[in-house]
Amino acid sequence: MAAGGCHCGAVRYETQADLSSVIACNCSHCAKKGFLLTFTPRETFTLLSGEDNLGDYRFNTGKIAHLFCRTCGVQSFGYGEMPDGTKIAAINVRCLDGVDPDALEIKAVNGKDF
Ligand SMILES: [Zn+2]
Repeated sequence: MAAGGCHCGAVRYETQADLSSVIACNCSHCAKKGFLLTFTPRETFTLLSGEDNLGDYRFNTGKIAHLFCRTCGVQSFGYGEMPDGTKIAAINVRCLDGVDPDALEIKAVNGKDF
């Protein structure tokens, strides 16, 4: 179990996300924000606080909710769906407490062409 959240502390969550499959995507959105992401089934993610403080940025197909804290702007997680309809949470691994991104195995994903 890992805990994480935004910078100001308004948004907090817990997750059982798998940290052995972290990706760095080069699409226009991920590249600008410097995300390191892992995807986890929605039932392994619990939002503890800050739901009322979330903004929702959508682009392209609009299917992914890129959620950000309205106070500090940090996008610590988002919601989306796999092609088969499974609901997932996308965890910004950089926002997890006590996780050293340099110690993780990061897989580069070519999302630029999607
Ligand atoms: Zn915040």
